[in-house]
Amino acid sequence: MTEKHHKLERTFVIIKPDGIQRSLIGEIIGRYERIGLKLVAMKMLVPTADMVSKHYTLDPGWFEAVGQKSIKGFLDKGLTPPTNDPQKLAEDILNRLVKYLTSGPVIAMVWQGAHAVKIVRKITGGTEPLTSDVGTIRGDFVLDSYQMSEFDNRSIRNLVHASGSVKEAEDEILHWFTPEEIVDYKMISEEVLYAPDMKGILGQ
Ligand code: ADP
Repeated sequence: MTEKHHKLERTFVIIKPDGIQRSLIGEIIGRYERIGLKLVAMKMLVPTADMVSKHYTLDPGWFEAVGQKSIKGFLDKGLTPPTNDPQKLAEDILNRLVKYLTSGPVIAMVWQGAHAVKIVRKITGGTEPLTSDVGTIRGDFVLDSYQMSEFDNRSIRNLVHASGSVKEAEDEILHWFTPEEIVDYKMISEEVLYAPDMKGILGQ
């Protein structure tokens, strides 16, 4: 088999400045930890404007996608979006994101484990806290909306960033971490999560 084992998948997460200010570091890390993911890199920093704009423009499709998603977020509630031009909306969103993410320290992390990208997105919840599922980080700990952030001309405050695909994760990890900052180590729990059999539990 030439394909990499699923357990080696990695994803990139940022606890945004509001997550730190709301004293939710332990809560957020705990949620990724308790599902069985392994933390393989972590650092606190105040990102520069350049780091943030590069991060969001690593994927050339991001502008169109974020613009479309936001317009849908308004239309689904019977509200009028600020513009029907996804590109124009996305430029505005990026400017607000730069202000948001450079406003204080953030924690950047790399999590590893089976289906890490999808599992972390599931635990994190949808972009808009008003409509994120109950039980997710964005659904349980914050109450922002497209409408309110538009009214105040700011970014949606949703505590966490998490990569949207394996490719995005690879690019984002390279953008935020050097290879030396990522630690290769074993966790005892990986035996029970991934070993093909569960031998060795009983007896001496
Ligand atoms: P996600 O973080 O869920 O992957 P996106 O990549 O679509 O979401 O957007 C990046 C971030 O930009 C969001 O997490 C949110 O903080 C902010 N954001 C997205 N859309 C809007 C919007 N319409 N108004 C204000 N902020 C937004």
